Amino acid sequence: MAGERTGARTGEFSNWKRSTTVSSGTSAQGPRLRPTLDGIPTYKPGKPAGADAYKLSSNENPYEPLPGVLAAAVEAAGSFNRYPDMGVSELASVLAERFGVPVEHIATGTGSVGVAQSLILATAGPGDEVVFAWRSFEAYPIITQVAGATPVPVPLRENGDHDLDAMLAAITPNTRLVFVCNPNNPTGNVIHRAELERFLDAVPGDVLVVVDEAYIEFIRDPEVPNGIDLYRDRPNVCVLRTFSKAYGLAGLRVGFAVAHEPVAAALRKTAVPFGVSQLAQNAAVASLRAEEALLVRVDALVEERARVVAGLRAQGWEIPDSQANFVWLGLGERSPEFAAACAEAGVMVRPFPEGVRVSIGEADGNSIFLSVAEAFRKSL
Ligand SMILES: *Cc1c(COP(=O)(O)O)cnc(C)c1O
Repeated sequence: MAGERTGARTGEFSNWKRSTTVSSGTSAQGPRLRPTLDGIPTYKPGKPAGADAYKLSSNENPYEPLPGVLAAAVEAAGSFNRYPDMGVSELASVLAERFGVPVEHIATGTGSVGVAQSLILATAGPGDEVVFAWRSFEAYPIITQVAGATPVPVPLRENGDHDLDAMLAAITPNTRLVFVCNPNNPTGNVIHRAELERFLDAVPGDVLVVVDEAYIEFIRDPEVPNGIDLYRDRPNVCVLRTFSKAYGLAGLRVGFAVAHEPVAAALRKTAVPFGVSQLAQNAAVASLRAEEALLVRVDALVEERARVVAGLRAQGWEIPDSQANFVWLGLGERSPEFAAACAEAGVMVRPFPEGVRVSIGEADGNSIFLSVAEAFRKSL
């Protein structure tokens, strides 16, 4: 019976043609992998910090889990011999109520990167294009190419803003999905309401626009729209949110999309089944119930951000007005050197070819970063 598909007998897969070519199995090269993988960089995690270093390289929340959130996760740990609730029903209904949207519009996944990957699998394949600003979140080109689709990076403006006009111009009949990262990772720049609405109204209705709001809780600029207000009347707009940043559940892998039903239903098809563990589901529900306490911590991080930004500007740095839990130094090719100086002083930061991203973390770590920045500035 080996190799026989029981589904074929029941007719369930009657349209599913069995391949007649059998590979010889004698190739010295080993299994044939998809050539598209050759050009894909492996996702680089932020450098881990040793016991005596501060990790300011992955935009994590520096606070320990709230007691109630930890207890909710631990309770679920007692039954991890069972699969989680595949429908993620309690979390979906709490989210639907929290945002005033139909529960069918919520689709969860293994972090919002997992949801973003499902969105691409649902919309784009070989020959299709995915447009995003660059530099932006480094997962976008990776998950696009994994699906076999073509990334279309559109350079940020000089000041780190999305160039929405250039992104519009980059849309072709092959475009299936556009990512808009608000605020942008790694620069922290935001897009204001009028500009984003004008963009959304100009994008063809058959192109899905994904507004990635991983850092929305850190925004204090009142001109930045809430994507959930924008998606309601626009069937081609989807909002991406995560529990990894402000909510402090990065290690549990849970994120979600808010999208109209055809898109949300497609996400339920392309997501890895049972991807969100029961620990993650319970912790996310408990986080939403503990939102007030969590948001007090976010306020403290926003205050720290103000202290760091003011400190850097006083040192003479010109930096974008970050609305996220990180700051950006556009150091260009001196970025690795700066990251090494930070590591030497006990803080891990994230260098990119264009600059260095530094997360707002514990006050002591932020202060060390500020003193490294001051010394480095003087050497420029
Ligand atoms: C961190 C981040 C995410 C969230 O990642 P998770 O998979 O939810 O941990 C999504 N988008 C952007 C822009 C991010 O910076």
